[in-house]
Amino acid sequence: MSGIYLDHAATTATLPEVVDEMKPYYTKEFYNPSSAYQPSQEVRKKIETVRESIASMIGAEPEEIYFTSGGTEADNWALTMQAKTQDEQWGHIITSSIEHHAIGHICNRIEQQGGKVTYLPVDSRGRVHVEDVQAAITEQTTLLSVMYANNEIGTIQPIHEIGMLAKERGIAFHTDAVQACGQVPIHVKKDGISMLSASAHKFQGPKGVGFLYIQKDLPIRRFLEGGGQERGVRAGTENVPGIIGMGKALELAVASMERRQKQETYLRDYLMQRIIREIPYSRINGHQWFRLPNHVSVAFRFLNSASLLIMLDMEHIYASGGSACNTGDPEPSHVIQAIQVPKEYQEGVIRFTLGAENTKQEIDHVVEVLKQRVAELRKQSPEYEDYQKRES
Ligand code: PLP
Repeated sequence: MSGIYLDHAATTATLPEVVDEMKPYYTKEFYNPSSAYQPSQEVRKKIETVRESIASMIGAEPEEIYFTSGGTEADNWALTMQAKTQDEQWGHIITSSIEHHAIGHICNRIEQQGGKVTYLPVDSRGRVHVEDVQAAITEQTTLLSVMYANNEIGTIQPIHEIGMLAKERGIAFHTDAVQACGQVPIHVKKDGISMLSASAHKFQGPKGVGFLYIQKDLPIRRFLEGGGQERGVRAGTENVPGIIGMGKALELAVASMERRQKQETYLRDYLMQRIIREIPYSRINGHQWFRLPNHVSVAFRFLNSASLLIMLDMEHIYASGGSACNTGDPEPSHVIQAIQVPKEYQEGVIRFTLGAENTKQEIDHVVEVLKQRVAELRKQSPEYEDYQKRES
C-alpha cells in the first residue's frame, strides 16, 4: 500500500505468514470439519489445535473458546446470553456509556424488549469507576459488560478491579476486548473475566472471524440455530481458513507484543507531544497512562474533522474521525460526549492508530502536513477570525 496508514483500530493488513497458513484450507484441505472421513478429521484436528492455542494465550481452557464471525457477533451473543435469568426473567445489565455499538445497540434492543440496562458514566479521561459499578449492582443484576479498551479514545478500563468485584458478587463479567486483544496481555482467569470478545482483523488476522470466551460454569444460551457446530451452541459450518488464520495471527501478535508495544508507545507519545507543542488549540482525548500503546485521539478547535480528513486523504494519510463505524455521522460520537470534550473541540476529533510498520519519518511527515492543513482550515473559519480579533 502506498501512503501512510494510521487507522489500525479500524482494521489491519493480514500478515503474509497468516495468509500462507490459511491458503491450503481454501484449496487442498477444503474439507468440512464435520464430515466423518479422514481428511475432514484432519481439518477438525487443526481447528481444535487453534482452539487450544488461543485458549492458552488468554489464560482459558480450550472448551471455553467459541468461534464467531467477529467481534460484533461475540458481543451480541454475550449480551443476549446473560440478559435473562435461568427462569427466563429479564435481568439487569450494567455497562458503560462508551461501549462500541455492538454492545450499545444490543443493550437498546434488550431494553425495548423489557430488560433493564444501566449505562455507567465515565470520567473525562474515559475511565469507568469501580465504585460506580458497585453502586449500580442490584439483586437483579445478571451481567457487567465493560469494554477492555475503547476504540475511539484508546482508554483502558480497570478490568482487574471490575473482575474482582464481579467475582465477589457472583455476577458474570463480559469484556469487549476487540481493541485490546493482541495489543496488551490478557489473562481471563487472573482478571475475573467470565466472557471476552475478540476479532481477528484487529490483530493482523483475516476479517469476518473472531471468538467469544465463555467461562466453563456459565450457563450457555444457544446463539445460532442449525447444526451441531461449536458444541451445539453456535451453528454453521466453521470458517476454517479464517479460524486458522486467526490462530496464527494471535500467535504472532503475542510473540511480537513487547517489541511492538515499545515501538508504538514511542511513536504514539512522539506524535501526541508534537501535536500539542506545535499545533495551537489542540487537545488529546483519553487517558495519559491507561491507554492502548498505538492510540492517539486528538481534538482540534476551529475546524471540522471531516474537512481535515479529506485533506489528509489527498496527501495519502489515512486516519479516521472517532471510529470507522461512525464515519459520515456529523454528530460528535457518544464517546466524545460522554468524556465531555469541550463543545468547541467536539467537531474536530481525529483518531490516529499506529501499527508495527509505521516509522518516525512518517510521523514527522504527518505532523508537518497537519500543521499546514489545520492552519489552512482555520483561515476559513469565521469563529477563528472572531477569536483572533478578540484576543488581539
Ligand atoms: N467492539 C469494538 C471495541 C470494536 O472496535 C469493533 C470494531 O471496530 C467491534 C466490537 C466489532 O468487531 P467486528 O468488526 O469484528 O465485528
